[in-house]
Amino acid sequence: METHVRTDYSMTASPGQVLPVAVRGQGCWLEDADGRRYLDACGGAMVMTLGHGHPRLLEALERQARTLAFTYRFSFRNEPMLDLAERIARVAPGELEWCFFNSSGSEANESAMHLAILYWQALGRSEKRHFLARTSSYHGSTLGALSLSGRWRAPFEPILHPYAAVPNGETAEDGLSALRAAIDARGAETIAAFWVEPLTGSSGAAMELPPGYLQGVREICDEHDILLVADEVISAFGRSGDWFAVDHDGVAPDVITFGKGVGGGLVPLSGMVAARRLREVVSAASGFGYGHTFSGYPLGCAVGCAVIDTVEADGLVEASAARGARLRAGLAELQARHPVIGGLRGRGLLQGIELRDPRTGESFADAAGASERAAAAAKDVGLMIYACPAVLPARRVEAVLLAPPMIITDEEVDEVLARLDAALAAVGRELEARPAD
Ligand code: PLP
Repeated sequence: METHVRTDYSMTASPGQVLPVAVRGQGCWLEDADGRRYLDACGGAMVMTLGHGHPRLLEALERQARTLAFTYRFSFRNEPMLDLAERIARVAPGELEWCFFNSSGSEANESAMHLAILYWQALGRSEKRHFLARTSSYHGSTLGALSLSGRWRAPFEPILHPYAAVPNGETAEDGLSALRAAIDARGAETIAAFWVEPLTGSSGAAMELPPGYLQGVREICDEHDILLVADEVISAFGRSGDWFAVDHDGVAPDVITFGKGVGGGLVPLSGMVAARRLREVVSAASGFGYGHTFSGYPLGCAVGCAVIDTVEADGLVEASAARGARLRAGLAELQARHPVIGGLRGRGLLQGIELRDPRTGESFADAAGASERAAAAAKDVGLMIYACPAVLPARRVEAVLLAPPMIITDEEVDEVLARLDAALAAVGRELEARPAD
């Protein structure tokens, strides 16, 4: 038999970079093949709700794998899927209750696009088939979800729809008048739904919505018969210190999409939960026949149930608020000592650190790569954080994101802060030593 030679680069997701080989994960910690340990303060891409190797999830996975791993949704319903839908309906705001499951956040947003179009068609308003989203946003990499996104479009721009046309606005007033202008420009009669991330992830490092914005969006959408979709692929199920980030504003959208953490990092799982009336209208007409092979598969849904049960039983929504407050207080102390920190934002255990040029105290004028440099400096001291550069219309934002598992202890929060302290000192020195622009 031919021996397979493992090269340094062939298996990495980022060609050209030699990444360490991860071999083990437990709780908030990862270990690589050289025995180095990393405190995982971002769950890769904000995925590890309950940390690595959580016994309750492993048990649910194993039990379900032995019982029934897969059924196809056009042949059977299955118990984990029904149980998961029931759990989500229980914690979701307003009359949100109808769930449809997928594997990725992008698919969840695609399904919400399908649902919105089918809903308006069923009501005899098939001209409502376009969407609006914010210019600084990310909703996924499939072409529909990328059409909704303001970020990472460039190579595909010619084949994308120009949906991400609504400037976010620094204030609620600015954001709402931008939404009104976009609706007027395109005609409300053509718009099926408006997409918003109530707490941003990679499109802006934990930016909250300005106070009053989401309530205003709800009113405008109601006024114009436009569905409101909240993309909570990152924030759903406790990370923000409430079950959903929209709960902080007391607003019930028509659809919430979720993903990432609902599968606990064990299984790909995502979905949407939609208002009862959407289900009623669509099922009385065509039904909802669009989805993917793994939509609602029992193995994934069983893990999803175990995630939600654990969040509930262990009080992790409250824990997220409490550990998040401790993390934020520690970050504020670091800010007082590190000139490279330009600002802090976020809720619960999704916290963003905006970086600034330590030489000028201003945002970076050039592509300094500060976000990646900070993430690399953190990795050097055994801390995983998420690099999050963004280009807003008015300025370039260099930032990093923290999204540790919701099971993190106070001691581990303090350890995150201690390692961050060392990393920020190192990146601050590196940025100060750069040649002048
Ligand atoms: N929506 C938001 C807010 C996200 O942050 C992401 C991924 O980062 C997605 C959607 C897409 O999710 P996925 O990469 O699982 O398709």
